Formats: sequence, structure tokens, C-alpha cells
Amino acid sequence: MPELPEVETVRRTLAPVLAGATVVAALRGAHPDDILLDPWPVFAQRIRRRRIETLERRGKYLALCLDSADRLLIHLGMTGELRLSHPAAPAGAHCHLALVLRAEGQLPPALVDRRGRFLLRYHDVRRFGRIGLLDPVGWAALSARLGPEPLDPALTAAELWEHLHVRRSPVKAALLDQTLIAGIGNIYADEALFQAGIHPARRCQSLTLADVERLLTALRTVLTEAIASAGTTIRDYRDGTGRAGSYQFRLQVYGKEPGTPCPRCGAALARIRIAGRSSTFCPQCQPLLD
Ligand SMILES: [Zn+2]
Repeated sequence: MPELPEVETVRRTLAPVLAGATVVAALRGAHPDDILLDPWPVFAQRIRRRRIETLERRGKYLALCLDSADRLLIHLGMTGELRLSHPAAPAGAHCHLALVLRAEGQLPPALVDRRGRFLLRYHDVRRFGRIGLLDPVGWAALSARLGPEPLDPALTAAELWEHLHVRRSPVKAALLDQTLIAGIGNIYADEALFQAGIHPARRCQSLTLADVERLLTALRTVLTEAIASAGTTIRDYRDGTGRAGSYQFRLQVYGKEPGTPCPRCGAALARIRIAGRSSTFCPQCQPLLD
């Protein structure tokens, strides 16, 4: 499932092509109504002739900012994928909608037709992704429901600790809560907790400020390195140009079988379920203190 580094990678790979492009039309694919938040005619009409100005990311959401002040909001769900393609390239069975775009500058001849047109296709095998148009009020409301961005330098450990130490939930569950901190999913929560030496089941209220300082530093290190590796590809995730990420080769604990030696101390890794998700950790490096 795409988390902050994967969505940020998609944003970075699509931005040079999409910024400045104009939407000529929206095309219906296999099951657009499973993905779209708006009825098709409303969506198709509202996005037509709009120019894409910039691409933003908030948590796990990607937003294409339009000249109408609307944002085209995209959440990739489990298996969503945005693909740039030539208008004549075959769509595939799981393409649910596409935008026909006209490029602003020169794009590779393999991507555009003779009229400078190309497609942005949305593929999604499991259809948990969502796409919709939000006006500035809707975007502000969505953004206000999300916690701070972990990579925002303005976020301090003291602020994060204020929100964490009043909770009774396990710290792993809190990290997955998008209203507490935005963009973290199972992969980067497990990796950051390992790096910080914090047991995933540890109660938030037992965390000291020093623990949260280590945790925030670990989150930032893991997320920054994952972005530099273009994300983690376990199965489906690809960047905006169809390439897989490479952070899966650097994972320390996520996805490892229980009993695998800890990369730091050699003890057997363990796996437990928290908030319905599996958590892999080292009982030696991440002791349960409370
Ligand atoms: Zn260990």
C-alpha cells in the first residue's frame, strides 16, 4: 500500500510532465464509479479545459492543483497506479479512468501523439483508491482532519509528545492514525519503531519526551531514505513512470518472517498483531517497558 514516500515519489515523477498540461477530456474506463467521489458527468464537466498548475502531497493524498482553484484529489488505496501513456497505447483491464492531456512543453515522442496529446491513466486492481475534485474549502477541511507532516521541519518532538502521551493505545496504532501524524503506514511504522528501539505495543502514555525525540528522528530518517530510494515496491507500487522503488532492499524488519535474526543484535524477530495489522519487531532491541 502506498505510503508517504511512494506518493511523494509519484508526485515528483509526474510533476515535470503534468505541470502546465491542460485537460482536454476525461475518459471512462472499466469501473470509474467505484473510484470517483463525484458522479461521472459532474467530474467530466468540471475537469474539462482545466490547466494543471502544480502537484501537492498531503499525507498519502496526491493533489493536482487546477487553474480553477479546484484540486483533483487522488488516494491510491491499496493498488492504485497513475500511468502516463501514449493515446494509442492499450489501456489494460483495470484502467478505470483517464485524462486526455495536452502538453505545455516538449515531451518524449514516445508519450505524445502528433497533436501533443497524452494520457494520465488510473489503474487499480482492487479498487480501494479514490479520486475526486475538491474546492479550496473541501481541501482545507480534509487537510485539517490530518495530523502534521512528519517531514515538516516545523513539527517538534514536544508537539508530537503532547498528542501521544494522552493516549492509551499502542504506539504502533497511533502512528497508523492519520489524524495524529499523516502519511505513515505499516511499513514505515515498523521500520521507524525498530530504529527508535520502541516496542510497537508500548502504550503511548508511557512514552517520554526522549522516546518521542528518537521516534521522530527515526521516522524522518526512514521516510527520507525511502523517498531517496523511490519508495518500497512489495508487489504493485510503481512511480509515475512505471518504475519500481528499491527501499524493499533496505527494510530491516518489515515483512521479515518471525525467527529471522535481527539485523542489529541477531535475536529472533517476532510478529504480533496491533490494530488489525501485523507488526514485526525485535524483542531484544525493542523491549516492552510498561
Ligand atoms: Zn535486535
